[in-house]
Amino acid sequence: MTAESDRKTLADIARQLDAYGRYFQAAGLEEVGSPARAKHSLKPGGDTPLPLATPIVRTIGTSDAPVAVTATQTTASPTKEIPLQEIRDDLGECTRCRLHEGRTHIVFGTGNPRARLMFVGEAPGQDEDEQGLPFVGRAGQLLTKMIESMGFTREDVYIANVLKCRPPGNRPPRPDEVATCEPFLRKQIAAINPQVLCALGSFAAQAVLRREDKISAMRGKFFLIDGITVMPTYHPAYLLRNPSEKRTVWEDLQKIMAVLKKAAT
Ligand code: URA
Repeated sequence: MTAESDRKTLADIARQLDAYGRYFQAAGLEEVGSPARAKHSLKPGGDTPLPLATPIVRTIGTSDAPVAVTATQTTASPTKEIPLQEIRDDLGECTRCRLHEGRTHIVFGTGNPRARLMFVGEAPGQDEDEQGLPFVGRAGQLLTKMIESMGFTREDVYIANVLKCRPPGNRPPRPDEVATCEPFLRKQIAAINPQVLCALGSFAAQAVLRREDKISAMRGKFFLIDGITVMPTYHPAYLLRNPSEKRTVWEDLQKIMAVLKKAAT
């Protein structure tokens, strides 16, 4: 790198930090932490470990009613990322881990490639494995209702999982499977560059944020990782077992709506 390109890179970083500061101020967030304590990146391309995400918000005003905001970003991602189709092609008919042995379909992800809002779950279940689409079973129907309650459709947002193949019997993903599959999720996130990513359940939140906290400790707070605002909340499958927590998740979704709405103004 030349001294001139170093200067340009630093100027770019300064501009981005300034923009984020203004963005979070505009969003009315009450506590903004440093995004830079990162050891690990959501961006593709490297062996650099992901950062331990910094919680940026403890409280934020919520509105009582769903707010109508546009679902598609009007400006292109500032960084030139790998297009989704290229990431899918790279994944191919993946045999990188043992999960390929029992799968019917790879479940890559679905939705708007320029979505402002992205949902990430754990791994495909039986219905998803059969159809090759994320969140199409019972938990998926609830996720669809959650998305619609926010004023969006499934086509407006992007939905993916940490793992692209179904673990046998829906057992929890194993560390080597996550290590193999997660780089593809990171590339998807970077390609879509959503304004907010909603991590569904402890597994997705821990994988995306590289934190080991329980979901009950992380949910309802915003985290910033690589410039993307992440809100962990309970998984829809958990809500099917614990319907009384739907109200809690609705509060988390409202916080997301507030950020999207403020960012759009
Ligand atoms: N649960 C998940 O985490 N992902 C799916 O796609 C379906 C159920």
